[in-house]
Amino acid sequence: MRIEHFQIFSQCISDPLFLIADDGLVLDYNNSASTQFQFKFDHVGKSFFTLFKVDAQIIRHFLRECNECDEPVLSADDFESRSKRLYSIEGKTVPNTKNTVIRCFLKREGMNPLTAKLADEVKRRESIERKLKSSQAHAKAVVETAVDGVAIVSDTGIILSFNTAAEKIFGHKAENIIGEHIGVLKFDDIGYSEEDFKKAVNPVGLASLVSNHRQIQAQRKDGSSFYIDLGISEVVVNQRKTYTWIIRDIHRRIIAEKQVKKQEEEDRIQRDRLVHVARLSTLGELAAGIAHEVNQPLTAIANYAKVSERSIQRVLKKALPEDTEQDSMPVFIELTCDQADILIESNKKISEQAQRAGQVIKHLRGLIKREASETALFNINALVTETLVLAETDAKLHNFALHFIPTEGKVWVMADGIQLQQVLINFIRNGIDAMSNSNNRNSELFIRTDLLESDYVKVTVIDQGTGIPEDKQQKLFDPFFTTKSTGLGLGLSISQNIIHTHGGKIGFANNTAETWDSLAKQCAEYQPPRSQENTGASLFFTLPLANIKH
Ligand code: ADP
Repeated sequence: MRIEHFQIFSQCISDPLFLIADDGLVLDYNNSASTQFQFKFDHVGKSFFTLFKVDAQIIRHFLRECNECDEPVLSADDFESRSKRLYSIEGKTVPNTKNTVIRCFLKREGMNPLTAKLADEVKRRESIERKLKSSQAHAKAVVETAVDGVAIVSDTGIILSFNTAAEKIFGHKAENIIGEHIGVLKFDDIGYSEEDFKKAVNPVGLASLVSNHRQIQAQRKDGSSFYIDLGISEVVVNQRKTYTWIIRDIHRRIIAEKQVKKQEEEDRIQRDRLVHVARLSTLGELAAGIAHEVNQPLTAIANYAKVSERSIQRVLKKALPEDTEQDSMPVFIELTCDQADILIESNKKISEQAQRAGQVIKHLRGLIKREASETALFNINALVTETLVLAETDAKLHNFALHFIPTEGKVWVMADGIQLQQVLINFIRNGIDAMSNSNNRNSELFIRTDLLESDYVKVTVIDQGTGIPEDKQQKLFDPFFTTKSTGLGLGLSISQNIIHTHGGKIGFANNTAETWDSLAKQCAEYQPPRSQENTGASLFFTLPLANIKH
């Protein structure tokens, strides 16, 4: 190799390089050799092998390699200070050379293959460096242009890098924030202590993916708090952990979600209010029946109380002479068995009637009071039976009878019981109205529950009224659609809303012969109407069965 070639190429190589004459004298060296080995100009002209104390066997091997044009490489292992794996030069150990490789090139005129090899080596390294630089530039560009904020943080919590998106998100300039502790960004619960930092980067104790994404609050430079989605991953560089914090500004999304939730809550309250108002209106329609229903037991109570009073008066009259002052002394009264029976019977009746009136009032209070919706587990058959206590007050007033044909067993649904009662009362009231307007002489209204194969239960109210004319069918569930002079037209539209919020379906059908035949099969004492077709309508709703584990 020519010495000029060596000078050009050697300076591009970061490994230490030496040019040696074939007698072993050092002819030249590169920058890396001078910085790593403190190799000086004074050493030029001295024997490389003496300077580095390389043993004779290695020299022979080395020279043979050179002749065969193999890459002539010497490692710290080849030298005398083998145990320490460090080089020594002129007897002085050279620090930090543990993994250093020395390349030597022999100066022999005309040794073109070696020159070519060196040129190749330079090219290879340049290409690697170019690729490395380009990949580094690429990685940097990716981080810089990322939509998400990226902060690289040291294992002690110091910010090492802060991309443009992070600058935008937080309002801090990279040059001001780099070198600061990550705690300055005031993440939820992430303070400045080592403890806080460890907790923040490793809340679940995972090694590589340090934490799953989580939504927390942080603070902008102007002091305003905002929501971010934070993901932290761990990278080990040069045996030190660093953390990549990926930060996404989700403030707008969270605020929008909160607004939607608030709006939904407001809508729900409005809906509950409307449902409640409609319920009160339905109850208003039931008022006459309810008054009648409560009045009946009250009249009975008054009568039985009178009977008791008279019986006692009669007994007293017999027991006391006329001029006795009644409250002056204790009196012993004898009752015959008949008299005692009358008194006991009257009191029993009074208690029964009071309970009957109490029941109606209890149901009424339940329906009037509550506004907000409450869901619980209900046996649908029990719920229908309870509803009939109130609905019957209306039916009786119109001289109609209600028959309930329950499906077998207990059928559980998750529902707002009061709202379901409201739907049922609506259906029954509509049935009663339709029957009052019809010329049919039948006076029975049926309520039936059926289990459907699809894990739904169906509740149907079957009347014997006018039926629903075709031109009205489309509008039946429209708000304010009514054919009644005093109707509001809200009953069915609100019922539809209630059933849909319960995950069920609502519908109607004009009755057919099949309706009555099926009913007759279920209900032994029932005789289907003679003119089976065109007799009344059925209103129904379905509800999903509750998933109960026995
Ligand atoms: P309203 O009872 O105040 O009229 P609804 O929404 O409960 O309001 O009913 C709307 C209309 O649907 C009624 O006016 C009536 O014309 C019709 N309708 C409801 N149920 C029946 C039924 N069982 N038979 C015939 N028509 C019915």
